[in-house]
Amino acid sequence: MTAGSASAQAPAQASPQSQRGLPSMGDGADMTTSEERRLGDRIIRELYRDPDYIDDAVLNEYVQHLFMQLLKASRERGELSPELEERFAWEVLLGRDRTVNAFALPGGYFGVHLGLVAVVSTRDELASVLAHELSHVTQRHISRLIAQQSRQTPLVLGAMVLGALAASKNPGAAQAMMVGGQALAVQNQLNFSRDMEREADRVGYSIMAPAGFAPQGFVSMFDKLQQANRLNDNGSWPYLRSHPLTTQRIADMHSRVPAGMPPAPPPTLEHAMVAARARVLMRPGVDAWRQWEAEPRTTGFASRPAAQRAAAWYAAVLSAVQLREVAAAREGLKSLDAVVRGDPAAERQARLLAAEVDMAAGDVRMAAQRLAQAPAVPGSAPGGAAAGSPATAASAAASASLSVADLERAERGGVMGGAGASVGASGAGRPELIMRTQALLRANASAEMIGPLQTWVATYPRDATVWQLLAAVWQQQGDTLRSVRAEAEAQAARYDYQAAVDRFRAGQDLSRKSAAASDYVEASIIDTRLRAMQSLLKEQAAER
Ligand SMILES: [Zn+2]
Repeated sequence: MTAGSASAQAPAQASPQSQRGLPSMGDGADMTTSEERRLGDRIIRELYRDPDYIDDAVLNEYVQHLFMQLLKASRERGELSPELEERFAWEVLLGRDRTVNAFALPGGYFGVHLGLVAVVSTRDELASVLAHELSHVTQRHISRLIAQQSRQTPLVLGAMVLGALAASKNPGAAQAMMVGGQALAVQNQLNFSRDMEREADRVGYSIMAPAGFAPQGFVSMFDKLQQANRLNDNGSWPYLRSHPLTTQRIADMHSRVPAGMPPAPPPTLEHAMVAARARVLMRPGVDAWRQWEAEPRTTGFASRPAAQRAAAWYAAVLSAVQLREVAAAREGLKSLDAVVRGDPAAERQARLLAAEVDMAAGDVRMAAQRLAQAPAVPGSAPGGAAAGSPATAASAAASASLSVADLERAERGGVMGGAGASVGASGAGRPELIMRTQALLRANASAEMIGPLQTWVATYPRDATVWQLLAAVWQQQGDTLRSVRAEAEAQAARYDYQAAVDRFRAGQDLSRKSAAASDYVEASIIDTRLRAMQSLLKEQAAER
């Protein structure tokens, strides 16, 4: 994207949006999909550095999986064009923030605060918010807003979006940002029009059932928002400010719901546990953790519904981990196991939590063993990498190596999955891979993870967390060259091209000093990747 293309000098074009339900607004040309993606990439490059950005493997997988079901339904219903699907990132980033908020960003990125995950009663309610936000993007609302505000250069637009995000976290503070030596007040954020909100409700509602969710989730989420609205909640619901519940939106919703529709289904055990996890990890403080630890001892606890008991035990165990009370955590796990027995998805969450307790207790071998009981990462471990001998793992890694073309495709491409990469509902995947690697790194026995990690980044080359783990594993195996290259790829995955160039250069220096024949292939990959990063960096500089 050049600065001119989104500026006032851009030639006006007929807007294709006029065919998509809403009339075209403003006279600026719409941003192209690749321009919008690049703007989004620049915004999330900053978000990845935000100390509140959290890549929690369990929460990420859960939210991203719901999101991918909605994306699939959008495509099948013709709301999502193949071009848009291919160009955009479709990644949900989680923020460790107690306020209730969700938002769409340019380029198919979405932000969800842990406060939202913590407050929704069912997966259907969470899906209703994601479906609404997703529909803002599939209906190209963002590109239209940007076109309206296109007197600004893209850099200023990016700064405005970031300013809006900062304002959503800290509503009281007046936000001003320095951009190009100019102080810029950023109240002018991405505010969707009322018509856009109604359209996002309508399209979002229509994809719920096809995506496998109860449409009643939309209704109960509205009820929840209305209740918070009545309580006039003190800024802990930024979502209500960006999404005022107009009488029109409420009337629309009631007209959509057929008469006599049964109430929303109860929460699954898995949802109750994941929401409990969000409550604990959003840092509510020591007092809250102590309260949750004590919760299962309340009178009448045993007669509560299973989902409530699973949530309470989960919160109690994880709170004990936060408080470093390992014995209490182990006791709580036994009770949790008794509640979830027979429900595979909930049993899996309990097993992941048990591995966390092992890790907190320093019992890294037991954690690794527990995580290996889960089915292997689908499609992984060709040639028996799980057998554990470094030689076997290394040869498996070589066969699973990633082509440069794959990486370049990922830089521009669509659903490659970043931190939100997920293997779906199969019940095994990224959390097991990440936690098992962490455990084996601590046990100084990480060689067996080389194959599975390599296979994972071959499928999800934008997964910076897994690249970073691979770098640590290579380092532990004494292969500095591969470690440096994996670090470079982690930086590239977070769109920090300058840092990636620095690491690739360090890799080049290393490979020149090395005489090992096996480094030859790696060195040539590094050369190619360095050139690609340098040209991306040049493009980025030209945008300013
Ligand atoms: Zn909205």
